[in-house]
Amino acid sequence: MGYVNNLSTRQYIDGQWVEASNNATRDIVNPYNQEVILTVSEGTAEDAAKAIQASKNAFESGVWADETSENRCQKVREIADLIKENKDELAELETLDTGKTLEESYADMDDIHNVFMYFAGLGGNDGGEIIESPIPNSESKVVKEPVGVVTQITPWNYPLLQASWKIAPALVTGCSLVIKPSEITPLTTIKIFELMEEANIPKGVINLVLGKGSEVGDTLTSHKDVDLVSFTGGIETGKHIMKKAADHVTNIALELGGKNPNVIFEDADIELAVDQALNGGYFHAGQVCSAGSRIIAHNDIKDEFETAFINRVKKIKLGNGFDKDTEMGPLISSEHRDKVEKYIEVAKEEGTTIAVGGKRPDREDLKDGFFFEPTVITNCDTSMRIVQEEVFGPVVTIEGFSDESEAIRLANDSIYGLAGGVFTEDIAKANRVANKLKMGTVWINDFHPYFAQAPWGGYKQSGIGRELGKEGLEEYLISKHIFTNTKPEPVNWFSK
Ligand code: NAD
Repeated sequence: MGYVNNLSTRQYIDGQWVEASNNATRDIVNPYNQEVILTVSEGTAEDAAKAIQASKNAFESGVWADETSENRCQKVREIADLIKENKDELAELETLDTGKTLEESYADMDDIHNVFMYFAGLGGNDGGEIIESPIPNSESKVVKEPVGVVTQITPWNYPLLQASWKIAPALVTGCSLVIKPSEITPLTTIKIFELMEEANIPKGVINLVLGKGSEVGDTLTSHKDVDLVSFTGGIETGKHIMKKAADHVTNIALELGGKNPNVIFEDADIELAVDQALNGGYFHAGQVCSAGSRIIAHNDIKDEFETAFINRVKKIKLGNGFDKDTEMGPLISSEHRDKVEKYIEVAKEEGTTIAVGGKRPDREDLKDGFFFEPTVITNCDTSMRIVQEEVFGPVVTIEGFSDESEAIRLANDSIYGLAGGVFTEDIAKANRVANKLKMGTVWINDFHPYFAQAPWGGYKQSGIGRELGKEGLEEYLISKHIFTNTKPEPVNWFSK
């Protein structure tokens, strides 16, 4: 855990590690015990503007954008190698900063390595595609160019993972970028900037601004020189960013929240469904955009499922993310735990039953952390706020349904459309349901798998655009049609 002592505490702008323009700083707190891990610069709007200017200068100079895709991809592979070499450090920093278990952080680092390797393997945008022109004596070519200066804003739940989904495609395509991690979890994003500096990414191509969204956010989202804003975070922030980006009709990519249904049919393997529902609901204390926080179980097996599920939830071991036995860490902050607690009050007022959890643990050894017990809420129905709104904590609701069409109707009854699960041994039924669910990802007899090759994103208010997969690369490209008249002659459309 000594790694943190060697970490930079500053922003990275135009190839320099710099303090905030007003020298402001912020303490980064360990959610397990509230100890200050590191004090880092707290950037300003002025810093954000400088970073955008550096990014623009680098883009226009062609130092990166005009490199061959092959060279850029090679550099991205070098970054992937450095991530692998520094995996222990990165994983420890992530656990320190977020409270998630070390095992989860290691899994994140493996995914991040894969993301860089995947985009490096996809290649960039050399050449272009000749298309058939319907006009005689002409040639048509479609080229894909880097979109330009990209600002990237990430949340605290998967700090480096979310950053990797944005940084890798931006670099491969030749964009220049300014990234702002969540102000409460900047450590691994700082570290990857150290690694990218080691890989000699040219100055100005990559910029890191630290600080609060309310302070630096508007500059990053409504600046005239920004060509794309890629944001991952909450729905209200996403709506605000959309409005700000409208000032200059700036492209946006939004990965927002979810309230993800997990549909369990009467013919499902109940033991498997319970096990996967635990994974869906309580992984990273439920602070996952695709958390399966809304179970919809067939009425014939609902009681059996609930009993088995609650028994397993009671056994989840809370603790320090660095302890091998820990299965669930703390919530990210005191404010976030307050928000989760308010939702428990809402659920009580709505007449539900708090079947287990619903409070802070009584354990003395956890009293300094932002812990909250894994919670199951029963006697719910779809109209309730506790079923409709994203709690983003270890809180799972259970509703019943009586037939396939009702299951589909309930699952789709949401403003969100990020992800969902279907459990049944009837694979034809599973596919019928999957086809009807209005969600960017549907898991059949599983919950949570995602990988770099498959696009990730939401239907409805869960977002706009896709990350990962070929679609995730396309976000960073813009198409241009180049038409050549090979036998030019006057058209004489207007008289001489
Ligand atoms: P948040 O919206 O509060 O903050 C996200 C980021 O936006 C932070 O960096 C924050 O500083 C910044 N920000 C805040 N106000 C801003 C403003 N006015 N302008 C610009 N930036 C601003 O979200 P959070 O609490 O950090 O993260 C949790 C949310 O993220 C949840 O809703 C979760 O579902 C969502 N999320 C979605 C995905 C996905 O892939 N769809 C992945 C992870 C998290």
